[in-house]
Amino acid sequence: MKVVIVGGVAGGASAAARLRRLDETAQIVLVERGAEPSFANCGMPYYIGGEIASRDKLLVAPVEMLRERHRLDVRTRQEVIAIDREAKSVRIRDLNEGREYEESYDKLILAPGAAPIRPPIPGIDLPGVYTLRNLSDADRLRTATLEAKRALIVGGGFIGVEMAENLVRRGVETVLVERNSQVLTPWDAEMVASMAERLTEAGVDLRLNNEVVAFHKANDSLEAELKSGERLPIDFAVLAIGVKPESCLAVEAGLEVGARGGIVVDEQMRTSDPNIFAVGDAVQVTHYVTGQPTQIPLAGPANRQGRIAAEACVGRLSEFNGVQGTAVVGLFDKTAAMTGLSEKACRAAGITFDKVYLHPAHHAGYYPGAEGMTLKLLFSPDDGKVLGAQAVGGSGVDKRIDVIAVAIQAALTVFDLEEAELCYAPQYGSAKDPVNMAGFIAAGVMHDEHPVIYAEEIVEGFLPEDVILLDVRTRDEHDRGAIPGALNIPIEELRERLNELPAEQPVVSYCQVGVRGYLATRVLLQSGRGAANLSGGYTTYRQVMAARKLASQ
Ligand SMILES: Cc1cc2nc3c(=O)[nH]c(=O)nc-3n(C[C@H](O)[C@H](O)[C@H](O)COP(=O)(O)OP(=O)(O)OC[C@H]3O[C@@H](n4cnc5c(N)ncnc54)[C@H](O)[C@@H]3O)c2cc1C
Repeated sequence: MKVVIVGGVAGGASAAARLRRLDETAQIVLVERGAEPSFANCGMPYYIGGEIASRDKLLVAPVEMLRERHRLDVRTRQEVIAIDREAKSVRIRDLNEGREYEESYDKLILAPGAAPIRPPIPGIDLPGVYTLRNLSDADRLRTATLEAKRALIVGGGFIGVEMAENLVRRGVETVLVERNSQVLTPWDAEMVASMAERLTEAGVDLRLNNEVVAFHKANDSLEAELKSGERLPIDFAVLAIGVKPESCLAVEAGLEVGARGGIVVDEQMRTSDPNIFAVGDAVQVTHYVTGQPTQIPLAGPANRQGRIAAEACVGRLSEFNGVQGTAVVGLFDKTAAMTGLSEKACRAAGITFDKVYLHPAHHAGYYPGAEGMTLKLLFSPDDGKVLGAQAVGGSGVDKRIDVIAVAIQAALTVFDLEEAELCYAPQYGSAKDPVNMAGFIAAGVMHDEHPVIYAEEIVEGFLPEDVILLDVRTRDEHDRGAIPGALNIPIEELRERLNELPAEQPVVSYCQVGVRGYLATRVLLQSGRGAANLSGGYTTYRQVMAARKLASQ
């Protein structure tokens, strides 16, 4: 069997290596347009920032290793320019010599990835307007960074935020322009307001609700013109506003593609041609929770899909079950991670949900070094099935989201999270892990044991006028900052002072993170009053307010 693979990085290199392990006799031709196959795209921002000192560290599997260890016919600086499905051959252009030639195949695997979006704005092709996709881009950006005083990042997604951290690390004055009213748009705004604040704290000049409308040449450097009318002198710009599937080869060959340009594949990664497979950022995937077609460019799915396509080539019927968007991003000492659906994704998909917020420590509070996190869990009000989760904090954020990611894959409910048996010693976690705690709180909501309300209902004035807002924290805590109009009765005094709360008026109680508010809700409910707890307490309220403040800038 002869298999030609187009694209030699995450999906393509995984497919090639897996295929070799399954079939010693297969002829495997790995065609890569760039100079290096199998490099670590995800490490490039840290190479630019100097955290990864050596470029060689980014070469995950150098050409020699692929050739000698896996016996692959690796052809770098060669581009597949056409597919002849009838003849089962591809046309390849040798980018060194300029010659073209045909290569036949029994099976073809397309792993061409996705190309950074370059919007058609004036000046987009000026020198100094960069994107970051491959090692040549990383080399250019590293050189530019070492020479620059001021740079502009366009886009506050994963790559934009990572680049901001690394430019700051290099001492480059950095402006980040984001069209939306928040950074990291896959997350809900209140969850990542602190990430935006962290950028600002680090000295990044963050411009939300703004965009670049043109680049101009200004003597030896550049000027970026913003929608707001401002003109920023910069040494260089990085466009990080998303990617689009590189599916032109597939389109020209008449293969089916989806509405957003991703190549349509089945569970074995087979395209509409049974002899052609496609994997990675170039393919349309099914969202694991909504069941809807989508595009989510991530390294994990690309690698897994590469394995599955290789297995399909040898007749093994492994299946790719979809993507749920499990992702993590670091920003200095902060981490944001998520899996499954966000609140806004639920709304967009018309999926009803309940949510809870909590603010646990990443390990036992009494053990030195405990760091706080905010965890938001979304679940179905019908059966408690977990729909998604987001966490922001420091250490331990990734671990909790990974556990919940697997829970989503296993179609588990909040009741299963209550029961999850997770490892514990004080320096690693808590006997009631944040994942268990999220399950306890959500299960309480499902059982109607403690109704919750959300900070946005207060902020937007949705609470009925007769509701008493009750702060059950200590007087000191209350004096340091409280929700306007709240009455303060510390939880320890509540039972004795119930008569201060007219029995016919419903009460919304809150504390710092939700625990004392929950206790107060139980006391109030058992006194015959209507009561609810503010989910996540004053901390979530402040996060919602911070997100609104950022959005209104
Ligand atoms: C800066 C950066 C940081 C990232 N960080 C993360 C992260 O932290 N976590 C995460 O999950 N994901 C991250 N990603 C995304 C991740 O790298 C991609 O999802 C993944 O690499 C996709 O794999 P792929 O094989 O589909 O495409 P790629 O890895 O992009 O490989 C496609 C290759 O195909 C080659 N090619 C295209 N067309 C042809 C052709 N016609 N002929 C020959 N060769 C061709 C291209 O040159 C390219 O090298 C990051 C991406 C970037 C750019």
